[in-house]
Amino acid sequence: MRLIPALSLASLARLSPASLAGLCAATLGAVLLGCGADRATVVSPVTVAEAVAATPAPRVRTAKVVILDPGHGGDEIGAATEGLREKDSNLDFALRIERLLRQSGVEVVLTRRDEERATTPDGVVARDGRADLAARVRTANAAEGDLFVSIHSNGSGDTGQRGVEAYYDSRRPFAEQSSTLARALIDGAVDGLAAAGFTTPDRGVLDSKCWRQRADRCFGLYVLSPEGTTVSSGSAPSGSAPSATGTVTAVTSTPTTVVPTSTATATQPPAIVTKEATAMPGVLLELLFLSNDADVAILKSDTARDAIARGVATAILRQLGV
Ligand SMILES: [Zn+2]
Repeated sequence: MRLIPALSLASLARLSPASLAGLCAATLGAVLLGCGADRATVVSPVTVAEAVAATPAPRVRTAKVVILDPGHGGDEIGAATEGLREKDSNLDFALRIERLLRQSGVEVVLTRRDEERATTPDGVVARDGRADLAARVRTANAAEGDLFVSIHSNGSGDTGQRGVEAYYDSRRPFAEQSSTLARALIDGAVDGLAAAGFTTPDRGVLDSKCWRQRADRCFGLYVLSPEGTTVSSGSAPSGSAPSATGTVTAVTSTPTTVVPTSTATATQPPAIVTKEATAMPGVLLELLFLSNDADVAILKSDTARDAIARGVATAILRQLGV
């Protein structure tokens, strides 16, 4: 949601060195161990070389991979109040959490590292909101993440609303893991704040499958929802694609083939496009409300931000068993 246009909080964005790729080349030993040769067999150097050349190098995972997804970016600033924009705050949290996870040997991939929109795995900056969300999903899947955590803060027209809540999608095969993670992330943030002397309510775990509902149709959160079909923006009929936060899409239960959207015009029927899904347990975390004065005071405290980041990182590490 967008509230009050706000000033940039450039100091929030603590950029760190780019993430290192988590790929590991297979060793010769690993290849040989996997070849199943009888002990009595004499393996000539030529045979070994051929075997290595003919065998695709398997990816050897040396660490868990966590995808951190700072919500919004570019002209999508998210919620805002004076001196604090959600897109900056989300990135700051992601960078703090990344540092903590790396200290524990966990690989971290961020879906964006600056104030622009997300980039695709091959480095192209998304040109619009839908491409931005699709790029986040593709980045998560390309990195073969073990967990996906989307980081946001809330905004509401009701300025009394405050606290921490987390969404998971009950339709996904790993819904139970996602739900457990959602609970742990809220506890980590709220308890971490309490230990540092800050108080905000626990608003609970929520199912995102009907994040918004219009005309008896459900709209899930894009980055958590299943693969399926969606009505393209621009020519979409009313009630089909809420876009206030750029985080939702209409998703039907049946995957379908792609209809190119580039040919869509205002006079043509809405184009149907496929939507990819994140292929790992995932949660969208809403860290306090930028529309509530008490929550904003917390979000502007460096001590509180550190406490939240530590609580979230600890919850992630527990879920990974690290
Ligand atoms: Zn947001």
